[in-house]
Amino acid sequence: MLPKILPLLKEIELPVSKLHATVQAFTVKEEKNLLLSKDLGDMILENSLLKLIELKTTFKEEGAKVDDLCICDVVVLLVEILSLSKTSKQDLAFRCTNMVGPKDNQHECGTRIALTIDISDYKIIGESEDGKILQLTDNIGVELHYPRYSVIAPLQAKEKLDEEDYIDVYMDCIKAIYEGDEMHTDLNKDELREWFNELPGEYLKMFIDFVEKMPSVVLDYDVVCPTCGNKRSFHAVNVMDFFTSSMERNG
Ligand SMILES: [Zn+2]
Repeated sequence: MLPKILPLLKEIELPVSKLHATVQAFTVKEEKNLLLSKDLGDMILENSLLKLIELKTTFKEEGAKVDDLCICDVVVLLVEILSLSKTSKQDLAFRCTNMVGPKDNQHECGTRIALTIDISDYKIIGESEDGKILQLTDNIGVELHYPRYSVIAPLQAKEKLDEEDYIDVYMDCIKAIYEGDEMHTDLNKDELREWFNELPGEYLKMFIDFVEKMPSVVLDYDVVCPTCGNKRSFHAVNVMDFFTSSMERNG
């Protein structure tokens, strides 16, 4: 029998949930499959990535699941797995969209700029408020958790989000509702939706704020165009950004 090489492992503490995870490097076969699914479109790639992240992660805490994590923790898992697999370096190609030329005859610079990024250079921005209690009245409060990535991921594939999509995300933030000493945790989705829709409008902003300020994983690089000297920054914030090896960016 041929000798078996054990995969590389790394233990990490996730920044938001504080869960302890051990991640494993991808195998050659898994990397090949990922490369193949890259051509099949974002949603399929995202699905296979999520499945792989699940496969490559074990938690110390019983019952913990990748499906229950917020986007920040999922991205950290992915980045750590890619770094361990020695595939954290990515070559990107940009097009310079700076407008150049005389005032009456401006055109886009259009120079292609190559940039090699290393996603293990990531930073986490924002303070975690996971588990925060939102006091709605003197005796009614809500325990908030960041929306799960498994709820947000399908929305990212939609072209336009409607009101119900946003409400799904805010509802997913509600872990428990307090009323004095009584705590409701086993929340029925329909009942919760009705309760949420009946909330005085002023509370909606608190939910929006909570979601908007959730910690995120970012990667920042400054890029200078060799032709026109225009300086701009590369700023990646979502899972797909971290796993796309070459792209045209205008932002
Ligand atoms: Zn340029």
